[in-house]
Amino acid sequence: MKSDLIIIGGGASGLMAAYQAARAFGDAGRPASVVVLEKMPRVARKLMITGKGRCNFTNVKSWNEFSSHVRAGARFLRPAFYTLPPEQLVSFFAVNGMRSVVERGDRAYPASYLASDVVDMLRRVCLGAGVKIQTGAEVTEVLQRCPSDKSPEYRFSVATADGETHMCRSLIIATGGLSYPTTGSTGDGYTWAKALGHSIVPTFPSLTALVPKAYKANESKGLHIDRETPLTALGRVLCGVEFKDARVELIIDGNVAQSEAGEVYFTDGGIEGPVGFQISRKAVKAMINGAHVSLVVSVTPGKITDILSPKLQTLHVSVEELGRKEVKWTFEIAGYVGYERAVVTAGGVDTDEVLPKTLESRLCPGLYLCGEVLDLDADTGGYNLQIAFCTGALAGQSAAKSLA
Ligand SMILES: Cc1cc2nc3c(=O)[nH]c(=O)nc-3n(C[C@H](O)[C@H](O)[C@H](O)COP(=O)(O)OP(=O)(O)OC[C@H]3O[C@@H](n4cnc5c(N)ncnc54)[C@H](O)[C@@H]3O)c2cc1C
Repeated sequence: MKSDLIIIGGGASGLMAAYQAARAFGDAGRPASVVVLEKMPRVARKLMITGKGRCNFTNVKSWNEFSSHVRAGARFLRPAFYTLPPEQLVSFFAVNGMRSVVERGDRAYPASYLASDVVDMLRRVCLGAGVKIQTGAEVTEVLQRCPSDKSPEYRFSVATADGETHMCRSLIIATGGLSYPTTGSTGDGYTWAKALGHSIVPTFPSLTALVPKAYKANESKGLHIDRETPLTALGRVLCGVEFKDARVELIIDGNVAQSEAGEVYFTDGGIEGPVGFQISRKAVKAMINGAHVSLVVSVTPGKITDILSPKLQTLHVSVEELGRKEVKWTFEIAGYVGYERAVVTAGGVDTDEVLPKTLESRLCPGLYLCGEVLDLDADTGGYNLQIAFCTGALAGQSAAKSLA
């Protein structure tokens, strides 16, 4: 089978790339075949569970503020951000029948608060623009044909698990990272990028729960503590407790590395919630590098703390009473919940090897990369989906332009 452009991965970035490419071909008056190969039975499984099913699809901050929430690759991201900035993404959705609402912290959601509306709309606009979406099409191999020939007609051959071989003139890898593998994101894109000459910045789970010492059973097995591991007595005391207004200090090898204020939740995973997640990136990276990590959680006493303090003291968690104003708990961190329940993957294809203005590989002409497969990640708040959508838009437009 021969196509002009194949996009591997029908997630947020892949669908946006496909739509933008098909539109660009259409605008240039050049009919072209754009194909999405998605391994799951339906597209965008991960998008469906974003924002607890409500889909916080972007954050409408200006670039200066937005970029301060990007934890890797902010400079690289800039041209993509301006290709489809948040307000244009909101307008794009509106033009295609999906109104949005903006909540506190500049977080944008579909007005229906249904992630499925975002997925349905993206699928519909893709099909309307002539994109061919093949689901249940798991790509198993990507080969560059005639690497020495700078412009062969069909530069890539892509094999799928059902034994089909697709050939294409340009290829976009939009396979996401490793988080929530049950949605289809299992890191396959890293393998092909590596085989095509790219370096992979070591990956690790980010925006994930941090597990305090003695919170879960069997924690001696390593830093990765599976979400399903049963809770201990301490875990059972704390699980379900939520503080709306806590201060959390991340201590790495005895020094304060980060300080955040806001919501902290104790769950069956460990410490999470917006503040827990915010701190998790630095904490996980430090633990992987062998550092000692602890969290100091400070809250104003109230009903919950009155009940909790004595229980925690019995369980030997150092509880400091700071007069009437604050209670401070120190939690040594034993590990973290892994990719099985991490919101994003940090690390990925090295952005130094990709052109920021087109997202074409510097090493393999005709290959484009977008979304979480790249070494780009950000805080919670709609930043990661904005990254997926705007890099998808740029990759799709660039691929179409180079072929038109
Ligand atoms: C629980 C959860 C909640 C989240 N909530 C938010 C939120 O509210 N706001 C926000 O900004 N971000 C959120 N995120 C992060 C955001 O969802 C991701 O950053 C974003 O989806 C990445 O988009 P992507 O297109 O790069 O990858 P993905 O969405 O992971 O899509 C990749 C696609 O590629 C397909 N694929 C992979 N390998 C193959 C293969 N071999 N062959 C064919 N297809 C393949 C996969 O099946 C998948 O459909 C959340 C993430 C999670 C896990």
